[in-house]
Amino acid sequence: MDLLQKLGYELFIVTNQSGVGRGYFSLENVYLIHKQLQNDMRAQSLAPYKDFAICPHSPDENCDCRKPSGKMIKELIEKYHLKADECYMVGDKAIDAEAGQNAGIHGIIVRTTKVEGFHHFKNLLQFAESLKK
Ligand SMILES: [Zn+2]
Repeated sequence: MDLLQKLGYELFIVTNQSGVGRGYFSLENVYLIHKQLQNDMRAQSLAPYKDFAICPHSPDENCDCRKPSGKMIKELIEKYHLKADECYMVGDKAIDAEAGQNAGIHGIIVRTTKVEGFHHFKNLLQFAESLKK
């Protein structure tokens, strides 16, 4: 995170929270967790996340925002006037990278095991270092 911010990147969270639609927890709880994440960032002397995009729907609601849809990412790109070719969607699942590709940005998988068909890094630091030019 530190290196990404030093390289000038702004951080966003794009998240499926189907537990809300399924009634397991409330949207207010999701906001509380996001608030805690922001506190954790500040505690580590990092800039807070720029924004959060949340899909609160369960899969059977057939919404148009749930990843791998690119809608939430596209909305952030518009809202903050981001350059799509300079944006990366980084996640640990194929649907994360697919959501990035569906929004016209780079889709990246970060996890210890490789996922076929996607750019892959073992961890976030390795990805951040790949961005250094
Ligand atoms: Zn949704």
